[in-house]
Amino acid sequence: MLLAFARRYVVWLFLGCLAAGCGGSVASGAENARRPSLADLLKQPPDSASRWIPNLPRMKIDEAAAAAAGIRKLSSKRLTLYTDLPAAEQIDQLPGMFDLAFPQWCDYFGVDASKHADWQLTGFLIEDKARFQRTGLLPANLPPFRHGFARNYEFWLHDQPSDYYRRHLLLHEGTHAFMNTLLGGCGPPWYMEGIAELLSTHRWQQGRLTLNHMPANREEVEYWGRIKFIKDAVAERRPLRLKQVIDYPPSAHLETEPYAWCWAAAALMDRHPRYRERFRRLHKNVLAADFDRQFYAAIGKDWDDLREEWQLFVIGLEYGHDVARTTVDFTPGKRLPASGGRVTVAADRGWQNSGLQLDGAATYRLTASGRYQVADVPKIWWCEPGGVSIRYYRGRPLGILLAAVRPDGAETRRNSALLRPTVVGLATKFSPKASGTLYLKINDSAAELADNAGELQVEIERAATAQR
Ligand SMILES: [Zn+2]
Repeated sequence: MLLAFARRYVVWLFLGCLAAGCGGSVASGAENARRPSLADLLKQPPDSASRWIPNLPRMKIDEAAAAAAGIRKLSSKRLTLYTDLPAAEQIDQLPGMFDLAFPQWCDYFGVDASKHADWQLTGFLIEDKARFQRTGLLPANLPPFRHGFARNYEFWLHDQPSDYYRRHLLLHEGTHAFMNTLLGGCGPPWYMEGIAELLSTHRWQQGRLTLNHMPANREEVEYWGRIKFIKDAVAERRPLRLKQVIDYPPSAHLETEPYAWCWAAAALMDRHPRYRERFRRLHKNVLAADFDRQFYAAIGKDWDDLREEWQLFVIGLEYGHDVARTTVDFTPGKRLPASGGRVTVAADRGWQNSGLQLDGAATYRLTASGRYQVADVPKIWWCEPGGVSIRYYRGRPLGILLAAVRPDGAETRRNSALLRPTVVGLATKFSPKASGTLYLKINDSAAELADNAGELQVEIERAATAQR
């Protein structure tokens, strides 16, 4: 199994190199001896070389010929950009914006910016492909690419239909180029594309750039569509398991949807307090043939929990998703005392562990009370455990109390029990389908927990023993 992983990775690195017209050798002798077939070439990473290509000189640019062909040159400290797009604010500010990304990449990957004072990329932003081909600025040995391609210090981009998405792709290719030039490589496909998507999803407002931004709404990220791809897949009942994302071959990225799943994997782990540190250390392994093995080793016994959080994340995904407020504590609860129990539920968090274990053979009565806030715009919306009837979220009244019993045995967790809640409201009587720990939350979007406040109390008592 491990050997299969390692072999696949070596072949993939090798093909990345071939794709880039590389004369150097990074793969084993056996792999190098084989001539690539068309099928091999289709397995190449489609939007960037996956690692640094030795012995590939920087392109020499005939400035006079470029200018004569109507290609403008825009320069900043970190980027020289050649483009045939006419002068416009959203185009001409790109190199300056790119400069603001460099220190953020350095911070993220632990690179000392002061040691790379003269690091600078050359980019080509293309409207008319033929014009760049005629002037030698689009080399014939580049693989065909759909949106962009990066190798070493150079990248090429086709123009995009929105200002956001043009910047996004510039930063995406910039992330690949940063990693290849300063870390030596990008890692396996899921990580390479996940990290490039994570860091290129950005906010650009009044001259300030924030990488690794969780978009608050669709309008902020025109043509990006990553969250829509996932919502559509979930609506069509074909969400991906986390392992399927990690197993993506390079060729998957000929389509756009895999970029969405890789972004989601990176966004969940990078924002999750239990996994952030482990995820952020992965860049140290980008040159390791057993990158995925090291990833699984770092997650270790938490894999089942991570897998379940992934399910909850993708199925509940929203613009502005608040990962920190929706993390779940999977510690098994203690048996409900004969006298019953009382727990407090915070209105501003997702699923909360009651610490109480319920018996699948029993029936319980849950009674809730309290008054809490479920929104603060245009004014504070007060709510009680029955929810508000003038606004619904996912088919249920906003703010209504929900419960779920999650079996404590790992074997029952293929589909999280937290995806099938019971409505409690002010009071309900219910029999869990199996023994397990009781979880509670109010019904609200994972993007709209920060404006909630207050808490509610829930009393749990055993009602009667069900005869089943
Ligand atoms: Zn990419």
